[in-house]
Amino acid sequence: SNKAKYPYLASLNAAQVKAVTSSPEIPLQILAGPGSGKTRVLTSRVAYLVQHHDFRPYEIVAVTFTNKASREMKKRLQSLLGEKQADNLVLGTFHATCAKYLRRYAQLIDIPNNFIIADAEDCKKIMSTLLKARKESLEASRIALKEGAVLSEISKAKAKEESPDQMAIRAAQDPSSSTSTLAVIAELYAEYEANLRESNSLDFDDLLVFGLRLFRTAPRILDSCRHILVDEFQDTNITQYELMKCFAKAHGGVSVVGDPDQSIYGWRSAEIENLNKMTSDFPGVQAIYLEENYRSTGSILSAAHAVVSQDRERIPKNLFTSHPRSTPATLKVFSTPVIEASFIAWEIKRLIAYSGGTLNYGDFAILLRYNALSRVIESTLQKDSIPNRIVGGHKFFERMEVKDLLAYLQLADNPDFTPAFVRVVNVPKRSIGDKSVSDILNAAKSAKISPMELCERIIDGEPLPSGLKAGIKRNLGTFVGAVRKLRRAAEKGSSVADLIRLVIEKTGYEEYLRASQQDFDSRWENVQELISYSVIVSEEQARIAGGVQEEDDGFMPANSAAVEAIVNRAQVEEKLKSEGQFHPLFRRQSSAGESSRSRSRSASVSLPPKGKVNRTSNSRRRSSKEDGVIEILDSDEEVDAKPKIEVEDVKPRVKTAVTDGLVDDLANATESMTPLAFFLQTSMLSTDTDGGEDDKEKPKVTITTVHAAKGLEWPVVFIPAVEQGTYPSYRCVEAHEIAEERRLLYVAMTRAQNFLTMSYCQFRMMGGEENDKETSEFVAMVQRHQPGLLSTNLPDVDLAVRRYISTMLARPHPDEDEAKEMIMKHVRAAPPMSTWDAPEPRDKYSNRFARREVTKATRAAEYWA
Ligand code: ATP
Ligand code: MG
Repeated sequence: SNKAKYPYLASLNAAQVKAVTSSPEIPLQILAGPGSGKTRVLTSRVAYLVQHHDFRPYEIVAVTFTNKASREMKKRLQSLLGEKQADNLVLGTFHATCAKYLRRYAQLIDIPNNFIIADAEDCKKIMSTLLKARKESLEASRIALKEGAVLSEISKAKAKEESPDQMAIRAAQDPSSSTSTLAVIAELYAEYEANLRESNSLDFDDLLVFGLRLFRTAPRILDSCRHILVDEFQDTNITQYELMKCFAKAHGGVSVVGDPDQSIYGWRSAEIENLNKMTSDFPGVQAIYLEENYRSTGSILSAAHAVVSQDRERIPKNLFTSHPRSTPATLKVFSTPVIEASFIAWEIKRLIAYSGGTLNYGDFAILLRYNALSRVIESTLQKDSIPNRIVGGHKFFERMEVKDLLAYLQLADNPDFTPAFVRVVNVPKRSIGDKSVSDILNAAKSAKISPMELCERIIDGEPLPSGLKAGIKRNLGTFVGAVRKLRRAAEKGSSVADLIRLVIEKTGYEEYLRASQQDFDSRWENVQELISYSVIVSEEQARIAGGVQEEDDGFMPANSAAVEAIVNRAQVEEKLKSEGQFHPLFRRQSSAGESSRSRSRSASVSLPPKGKVNRTSNSRRRSSKEDGVIEILDSDEEVDAKPKIEVEDVKPRVKTAVTDGLVDDLANATESMTPLAFFLQTSMLSTDTDGGEDDKEKPKVTITTVHAAKGLEWPVVFIPAVEQGTYPSYRCVEAHEIAEERRLLYVAMTRAQNFLTMSYCQFRMMGGEENDKETSEFVAMVQRHQPGLLSTNLPDVDLAVRRYISTMLARPHPDEDEAKEMIMKHVRAAPPMSTWDAPEPRDKYSNRFARREVTKATRAAEYWA
């Protein structure tokens, strides 16, 4: 009967149904292999909680590992629950989710809530400045530190909530020889934190650390969370686990899914131990196992299994598929990466041509161990006019022109954000040299104001700080003028697209690009792309805000008096101080010199009108059933029943209305954010694990790192560079690192549904040197012991490829048409490929396509024409 009521249950197997429908009160842990439907179960469980258990969407927090995964989950839930309900779920990565709450409530922990999210490059800049300042002392003590290494140490500390002081203590206690280095890192950590706070910014790890601090300080914020669901649980770190505990605290509802065999973020402090910890932290946790793989063909699954089971420490797991065995996973060898890439490009075209319209570019993925491997592949695909997108390469948002424009926007939104200031104070060139910039920074530091503010004061007539030449004032004038115009326009609520145009106009950015950069056209395209992206984001914001607006009555009090009452501020301050985390600048920002922006944001939300509360005895009831948005907790019974913070008389009624994965979404927070702030948050969050928005219309081949491909699937997957030194990476030496590399290859292989092609090269440039390469030990092992699992034969068609390639190599300027004609000749002559038999029941690749191959090959020729 349940199945009739909820059609999605009908498409699940018994174990999956059991998982979806198991009681929300009992903590649930699903451990299962790739493609066994974990994510599908999690998604269905969300729908079931809403539809069967009458949860309100915003009472459910669902955490995915990447923004892309959360978009996919949202899409699915939109179709299961309807757009409105799905919009109100709290759905996103841990980072995005924390960002949402911090935007709303950061003032509770003395952070201004107009903070900027500093991306990886900003952080690197900060660290390299700090390292430069210490250059001599480091050289004197013979300590060599690179910014990347220091940042990764800091990131590790933040992943386990270690403060700079605690790190210093650890350094002092650690008797090993590396102590002095660690002590220096601890100092750098402290300076780095101060730097971020001064520029009113949080790095990615801070989103988690400060999120945690927020939830511990004011746990009541999370009263509305009745259930937290976590995908890819095996890759959570300690901080994320603690966050999960906070979310689960109010009502105890928690469901996690994961797969120890796919734990690939140990290098980023993921703790596989969290699985065991959960058993003790959540007594009575129910474990459910899923054993049927729905994703891959039997052949792909056995090859993948042959790799992962080389790990002796691993706990064996059952995983079967009812898909028949079909085309075996393939391993190919090429002489160089260029040839490897040409093969991939060729193969993509060939498969599309052969598939008779059932495959398009969107069905292909090329999974890489490192981003750097993408260069050759990307340019080869480009040359062959194969549309492609690079995910996880931070590509778009790392472009110089995109970062420049964003920096101006950041300064307009938040003048304290020093990295943005440093980036563009002399862009376009205004004869403000490095020396002047560092003089400005120093002067600002001693005046305890931001460099932007210092410049504004100079323009407004304050005397120049010593060291700066009089002429600088004129040069700064255009810069300050532009930022001011921008700020004014932003405050008036101008669209981000207009703001970007304003930057370009006021700074002469277009002429600057034209004059100073060679590839003007492609850079200008990126500028246009940024403008289009901003339009998409603002439409999203409008849509979400529109859905929430009318219900703007009582809500979490955000006016300062009420907020003050929620936490005992003095206590918080004490606590922060004792942790060494209190930074006086917080104070300056959030209370004393509260900026007009944060004031106006606070004022936009008011205390709940008395008497408007919908009282029910024990259960929650919808105040208005259709909206699905607003819920008013019964403040007396419900809230009082929970452990509470010492608050005298204000009992906040927590009401959250929630939106998209990337979006600041607590109640009307979205609506009260300026378009600019909203845009900056959305774009900064997208720089982490994925690139910007996908261009949905055009199917494209995906090029991505394996790490960013987690949880995803494609009919056809290529894994190039399956070599020693890449799998495992040459950087990995210790046994546990090697094991993680093996799992990484396992994750890559298990992304494939129908066709999996691994390849390696005999030569590859690494670090500027051409190296002899051997096949990865992981696949070599399979070749040796289970040779039947990998097809290493070159099918006939490959002869054509080889011929094509040798033609290309033989002639520096090959006549492409002729070469292609020659390939077609070979393709036409090739016998029907028996290996193309369909993996039933998917008839995508059935025999009839193979039989029509000559026609298809002709069509392939048309592709090339
Ligand atoms: P991973 O570990 O890689 O994240 P997963 O366990 O999360 O994998 P899903 O992505 O949820 O697996 O499912 C894999 C594929 O199998 C998806 O295409 C999903 O729609 C499909 N699938 C899952 N369960 C079933 C089922 N009962 N019947 C048919 N298809 C299913
Ligand atoms: Mg999954």
